[in-house]
Amino acid sequence: MRLAVENSHTALGGNLLGRDIAGRLRGYILSLYSKLIPVKAIAPDLGGEGELDRALLVEDALRELGLRPTRVDAKDERAKGGVRPNILALVPGELETPRVWIVAHIDTVPEGDPSLWRYPPYEATVVDDRVYGRGAEDDLQGVVEALGLVYALRELGLRPTVPIGLAFVSDEEAGSHYGLRYLLERNVWGRPDEDWFIVPDAGSSDGSVMLVAEKHILWMKVTVYGRQGHASMPDRALNALRHGMRLALLLDEALHKEFTEYDDLFDPPVSTFEPTRKPENVQNINTIPGVDTLFWDNRVLPSIAPERVEKLFKAIAYNYASMNEVRVNVETVARDEAGSATPPNHPLVEALAEAVKATRGVKPRPRGIGGGTVARYLRRRGYPAVVWMTCDETAHQPNEYARLSYIVRDIETLLYFYTSHTWKKLQKLSAAGGAAQ
Ligand SMILES: [Zn+2]
Repeated sequence: MRLAVENSHTALGGNLLGRDIAGRLRGYILSLYSKLIPVKAIAPDLGGEGELDRALLVEDALRELGLRPTRVDAKDERAKGGVRPNILALVPGELETPRVWIVAHIDTVPEGDPSLWRYPPYEATVVDDRVYGRGAEDDLQGVVEALGLVYALRELGLRPTVPIGLAFVSDEEAGSHYGLRYLLERNVWGRPDEDWFIVPDAGSSDGSVMLVAEKHILWMKVTVYGRQGHASMPDRALNALRHGMRLALLLDEALHKEFTEYDDLFDPPVSTFEPTRKPENVQNINTIPGVDTLFWDNRVLPSIAPERVEKLFKAIAYNYASMNEVRVNVETVARDEAGSATPPNHPLVEALAEAVKATRGVKPRPRGIGGGTVARYLRRRGYPAVVWMTCDETAHQPNEYARLSYIVRDIETLLYFYTSHTWKKLQKLSAAGGAAQ
């Protein structure tokens, strides 16, 4: 069996499954989707009752595959059952380490405006290659790829070279406090050379994009205090909006002038500073606002300490206040540090890149993004983590869908990755390195 796979690696360019097994795998994936999509799993913070019902389905699926799942629940009185469930399972490999974990989140965002959906959001509707439904991509695709990988291994009668860890986590859409971050606090994983992570929760349509880095996220709130008055008598008022706008433009210019670092690993390759939310100041047109508030969403390259950006906000704002009659207040609403990038030459990235190249015929592209995924919490603890899957990026949208053909190909890539012989070469190399020291 092992030999057959080695041959197909080279001869068939990654067509590892064969038509029979691919067909059965497709049926298995559809049966998973038709069970998982109808069971809502929305975080209490987003108005739902949590993930327990969906977690029970995932546990059943793991047991059916012959695995013994472990539950690591975080307490949350607001949720059904009083818990936010997390599930771990391990498929042993020929080697003990590295254990390479697939992390998928089982919670989903609400469906939004139902009139925008062509298909019912809580049914798995199959149209040609697409499965529609809330969560089909984000992140039930990760869930079915992880389960489908174990299913395919079993069908092929294969044992992976390195152990496959499966982690199904809650609460990703509302901050991961009861999900991945809870697992990290509980120290469920070992050292960064023992546990590595693949996060199928974002990607591109050709499967080439591998996300290895993120930016710091820094949300700021700037409030300007003037004096409210009648709009017909501005001489008796102090227009906080006018000063707020002037200050916003000064900030905009200063931030973009100061932080010009460029890193083409990232898309976009620079830090971004965007004024975004503007809460209402007055309710009527004929009142001069006495208070003006503006929020900023900043995505800062990891080479720049977020404190430097906070300091510039304060310096510009308090300087402005000292030269004008207004008072200002600058607050940090959220500061979420990215952790250092997983180097593109880390063996995890290289092995996945090799699998992508061999099975997909595309050039793998390690990239960084401004958006936040659970990988940042792993990287902050020093673990290598790659975010990768193949998708059309329909997450959070009405008519969200996943493509069956993408899922089957992702599973083929993962099969190649986990059964690769490179792992044994790597182990010999590191043993030799260890002996030499
Ligand atoms: Zn997601």
